[in-house]
Amino acid sequence: MATDIRLKVLPRVELRGHRYVWSRYGSQLITVAILFLVPLTGAARVDLYSGHHRMLCREADFREGLAGVIVGIAALYVVTFLINLACGRMFCGWGCPVGFLNRLSDVAQMKPNKNTPAWKLWRDRAGPYGHSFLLVFSCMLWWTSAEVFWAGFGWPTMLAWGVLVSSTAGLWALGWYARWRFCMTTCPIGLYYSFVAPSDGFGINFREGTSDGSADACLHCNACIKVCPVDLDPMNLVESASPRGGIALPDAPGNNHCLKCGDCIQACEMMIDLAAERRGISEVPLRFGFYQGDQRIERNKEEPEEAATSTDQ
Ligand code: SF4
Ligand code: SF4
Ligand code: SF4
Repeated sequence: MATDIRLKVLPRVELRGHRYVWSRYGSQLITVAILFLVPLTGAARVDLYSGHHRMLCREADFREGLAGVIVGIAALYVVTFLINLACGRMFCGWGCPVGFLNRLSDVAQMKPNKNTPAWKLWRDRAGPYGHSFLLVFSCMLWWTSAEVFWAGFGWPTMLAWGVLVSSTAGLWALGWYARWRFCMTTCPIGLYYSFVAPSDGFGINFREGTSDGSADACLHCNACIKVCPVDLDPMNLVESASPRGGIALPDAPGNNHCLKCGDCIQACEMMIDLAAERRGISEVPLRFGFYQGDQRIERNKEEPEEAATSTDQ
């Protein structure tokens, strides 16, 4: 099972730190901030509790409030669609709050290092709960004012807390137990992105040899495969992915299923860095961005010998 193998590699990758870690927190902060700010600023909200519907930051009737919420959701859809049109499933890897929950659940289930301080273990354990709570709470604020949560012991308050607690528990369980399997087999948005916006020119590309073609840049260590959350081979995303099951597209190239999360790059940079002194090679064979040439280039191992032969003559 891909998740088990990933959890064995992830602690080493995570321990080293990486520029992507902060970028992921940054992009996730933007997603969560948007989810909170739309209803709290009154840009759009239906208030099923006290009838204080809002649209464009002013009081509105129910129909206007509902129209505002629908337009808000449509706007989020358009933004993610444009991101994915240019960059494939980039939203999955960086912006999706459920994908981020999966990541937090990975970290919470990693085998702790014996030097990890207790407060970090508690923080990692609490991460999936806290994130699930924030997501459910922010989504509820699109449909009710926050007052309902502290309005005494009437049924609206009980109902609101009931929905908040049960939905938080459900979301947490999804991240904890199903995790990336949900992204691979069940998520309709992921399926939709797989074939509507696969992006031919952006993603992970692989260059097996060094730039001058004289040696392997790749260590053939397979760390990139082991760390991939959705069971892909980052060195060969042009080939069909292994069967995913569920509603996923069968026989689609790995690139369509790739979340563009950058985990394989993180692992690859670590492996190359660890071996750089011994090998005298620091070129990283996996790259993230717009392809320059083909997505995958294998080293022609005949070339150096041919070159040597022609020099001899
Ligand atoms: S597949 Fe669905 S749940 Fe998973 S990261 Fe993409 S949009 Fe989010
Ligand atoms: S191939 Fe790399 S970028 Fe794509 S999903 Fe796997 S780890 Fe993430
Ligand atoms: S992690 Fe990097 S060096 Fe190792 S097999 Fe993958 S591409 Fe090659």
